[in-house]
Amino acid sequence: MAGKPNPAAGRGYLAIPGPSVIPEAVLNAMHRPAPNIYAGELPDMMPGITEDLKKVARTKHDVAIYIGNGHAAWEAALANVIEPGDQVLVPRTGHFSWGWGDTAEGLGGEVVKVDTALGQPMDMARITQALVEDSAQRIKAVLAVHVDTSTSLRNDIVALRAAMDAAGHPALLMVDCIASLACDVFEMDGWGVDVMVTGSQKGLMVPPGMSFVFFNDKAAAVREKMTRVSRYWDWTPRASPGMFMHYWHGTAPTHHVYGLRTALDMIHAEGIENIWARHEVFARAIWAACDAWGQRGNLRMTVRDPARRSHSVTGLQLESPQATALREWTEAHLGLTLGIGLGMAPAGDPAWHGYFRLGHMGHVNGHMIMGLLGGIQSGMAALGLEHGRGALDAASEIIAES
Ligand SMILES: *Cc1c(COP(=O)(O)O)cnc(C)c1O
Repeated sequence: MAGKPNPAAGRGYLAIPGPSVIPEAVLNAMHRPAPNIYAGELPDMMPGITEDLKKVARTKHDVAIYIGNGHAAWEAALANVIEPGDQVLVPRTGHFSWGWGDTAEGLGGEVVKVDTALGQPMDMARITQALVEDSAQRIKAVLAVHVDTSTSLRNDIVALRAAMDAAGHPALLMVDCIASLACDVFEMDGWGVDVMVTGSQKGLMVPPGMSFVFFNDKAAAVREKMTRVSRYWDWTPRASPGMFMHYWHGTAPTHHVYGLRTALDMIHAEGIENIWARHEVFARAIWAACDAWGQRGNLRMTVRDPARRSHSVTGLQLESPQATALREWTEAHLGLTLGIGLGMAPAGDPAWHGYFRLGHMGHVNGHMIMGLLGGIQSGMAALGLEHGRGALDAASEIIAES
């Protein structure tokens, strides 16, 4: 044999925390000639799509759809309830809560920050205190991120609602589920969430380009009292459209609508509770592997408490520059793309190269998870990174028991 093996040949695997792996069925649904936007199948699909989206969000209330990414969903939600001079309380647990707060500042809002160390959960006592001290009730909303994708921390939204209720504060509870919807358990109405934002490109398995703002009657009443809401971001006509173009305030993202229809069919065929269970098993398999590797060498999970870890993304640390070396190795040698570290160290700081993340959201199954773990182990072996044994056994036992 004179040949040289290329283990990166074959289908690549994008194991980053969004955009996620797109199912063939979704891609195929999008591969079609341009449809009529005035009548027929496309407009007829919309009532079913909004109903099915609400089932995923576990809400009976309203949804407004935007052509945009997650940042657009942040802006859309805030543009309906925040005016210049309003305060928002942001429990800042990482990159994405910093970002949502920054979006509020861009709209003239004032951010009351309750910071916690990276990887540590929200500090409910300090949140309660900040709300109790706000006797003038200037804080109009609490902006929480369910899964902060930078650290992979999963915040306790039920406890946050309880803290707001205990403080007797009327602020809206607004939650970013961009990384968690259709992966981690989430109950919009059951948990008392007033506004929830998400995007198409993570648990919903559709390419980036659509975002969603769910809002209840309490949030709609706040919107009604606004001095002005920009026409484009106004959620009211989008959620109660008189005609098809009102859903989008212009031309529909035609092909995304077909992709989303197929993704929702897949989600409802599997069952949202079964999807939550699948993500939990895979997350536990990944943690078991990481625990085994971590018995020797430098690999650590950023979130130490398993109860607070996301089921859709896992934040990891090595010594700098080992994380970057590992990512580059798995991509070049295996066709396996791991996520960069985000928000753990400033870009340009050498420490940046010590962090990486695994995306395990949406269209993933057992062989992909075992391939992901096997790929990381191959990379650590190839690069001579010290690590504990038994990781793949530990992960496969969890998958076998499920
Ligand atoms: C991905 C993500 C965002 C940002 O979404 P974009 O589509 O990149 O704008 C916001 N919040 C969370 C929690 C995310 O995971």
